[in-house]
Amino acid sequence: GRAGLRAGLVGRGIALSRTPAMHEAEARRQGIPGSYRLFDLDDPELAGATLADIVDRAEGAGFCGLNVTYPCKIEVIAHLHALSPEARSVGAVNTVVFDGGRRIGHNTDLTGFARSFSLGLPEARRDHVLLLGAGGAGVAVAHALAQSGALRLSILDTDVARAERLCADIEAAPAPCRAALATEAAQLFAADRPDGIVNATPMGMAKLPGAAIDPGLLSAGQWVADIVYFPLETALLAAARVRGCAVLPGAGMAVFQAVHAFELFTGRPACPDAMRTTFDAF
Ligand code: NAD
Repeated sequence: GRAGLRAGLVGRGIALSRTPAMHEAEARRQGIPGSYRLFDLDDPELAGATLADIVDRAEGAGFCGLNVTYPCKIEVIAHLHALSPEARSVGAVNTVVFDGGRRIGHNTDLTGFARSFSLGLPEARRDHVLLLGAGGAGVAVAHALAQSGALRLSILDTDVARAERLCADIEAAPAPCRAALATEAAQLFAADRPDGIVNATPMGMAKLPGAAIDPGLLSAGQWVADIVYFPLETALLAAARVRGCAVLPGAGMAVFQAVHAFELFTGRPACPDAMRTTFDAF
């Protein structure tokens, strides 16, 4: 692997991200030099700099790579030479690796959810999974579920066109997973009860209280994963827990996307437990 970590995060509204601390602490723990900086497109000091400028400068300055977040995950693809299979299936990139003049795009949201899911809910029956939310993160989660053995996805989004596009995407992907639009959660639970539910909407965040489905629909034997991690336990997860459902909080995905990005940046394995400890210290 490389002798150190030099990386950063490009996006908007990233000031409170826990990702820099996770990367820098992991580098310190491994005894290698580590720096991870924020490139906030709203920062007046970056005035006028485009995404392309920031990628160019970071590459020129010898960075290992960059993480990319809202609103740049699709736009960045135009500035890359190649995509990993995961980034290709999602159609979005959250990690760019600079590799001797070539820029490779990866998607560690997909691998991060997949790893969190397989470790946190290893026994979960996944014949039929209800996915709530078909936005940026929902697309990565849908592909992760399809690649993790889900046989059938029902996809619900208030933006029906988005849900339809994601269904078509999953149907066209190589994994043997079917996908269909869901519009009425109560009807679905009555007629075709899902084994598990994943929330990839922003509902349940501190600033958006509530849940995308009525938690009263949940019953023991179902599992519920949330990718929202602020708060760590959403109202949906709390209700699921009370009803006897197995639950998977969103922090796991947030940690494992960073674990995989660290490994891609440095070529060295990262310690998920140590990175989790840093994440929890906030
Ligand atoms: P986004 O805005 O791209 O997509 C959200 C989608 O949810 C939209 O398509 C929207 O129409 C839909 N939606 C909103 N309210 C709904 C409702 N009540 N019912 C059905 N659909 C609804 O956002 P995103 O980038 O996909 O992020 C979604 C959430 O996931 C955010 O809270 C974000 O913080 C979280 N997230 C967590 C991780 C992690 O690592 N744990 C990673 C990425 C995003």
